Amino acid sequence: MSAEANVGTDMDMDKGTLQIQGLTKSFGGGRPVLVDLDLDCPAGSRTAVLGPSGIGKSTLLRLIAGLELPDAGEIRLGQALVSGPGWALEPHRRGVALAFQAPALWPHLRVRDNITFGLRHLGQAAARAAAEDWLARLRLDGLGGRYPDQLSGGQAQRVSLARALAAGRPILLLDEPLSHLDPDLKSALTADLDGWLRAAGTTLVYVTHDPAEVAPLCDRVLGLADGRLKAAMPPPSS
Ligand code: ADP
Ligand code: MG
Repeated sequence: MSAEANVGTDMDMDKGTLQIQGLTKSFGGGRPVLVDLDLDCPAGSRTAVLGPSGIGKSTLLRLIAGLELPDAGEIRLGQALVSGPGWALEPHRRGVALAFQAPALWPHLRVRDNITFGLRHLGQAAARAAAEDWLARLRLDGLGGRYPDQLSGGQAQRVSLARALAAGRPILLLDEPLSHLDPDLKSALTADLDGWLRAAGTTLVYVTHDPAEVAPLCDRVLGLADGRLKAAMPPPSS
């Protein structure tokens, strides 16, 4: 069967469920980073994936977002098959938003335009209002007119987070999203994120090497080791 034949419609992807079966990924013929990995995320669930640097966390999120092609296995969003061996539906058609580990902002666009870029379907005024709203929520008021090279690392990371949140997709993928923030801001934004995602019913996959970050935000914690996910860790205490 061709890849296109069983790809679902956008409506199929609205449901916020994520299912991964048998996902395997290697780079350049080396030892696979992910091996026969399974993951099942119900709509509205919040899953943390913990593991040390280099274990494959970002690779997993990039595969879910459609930025990498699996060697083997399948990814489904809602009812729709969106990735299979050697192919992937384009990222913007998947109902998924990803905040990258290293903020990937367009250098030639102002901060607010980095956010409105993905909101053009709303119309200019509404997109601009949404961008300013998310900037304010992330304590970035007044920075909308700056260019990315005029931001600190922590500010750029929050712009990247604002862009992913503003997209309003049913599934949100966060790759070490708070790593550049000081502890007070980190805990305040963690509490805010909890409220925003709960209100929207967003399905979350949050990857980090830091167990302390995920306890308030996620309802289960999985460990990534030897290319697979394991429910090795106890549920978070808070
Ligand atoms: P983590 O996010 O857990 O730190 P990554 O997913 O970034 O880990 O990387 C997992 C492994 O895959 C590392 O050994 C990394 O060097 C390798 N890797 C990731 N992306 C690529 C790529 N595009 N080309 C070659 N190797 C890669
Ligand atoms: Mg990473």
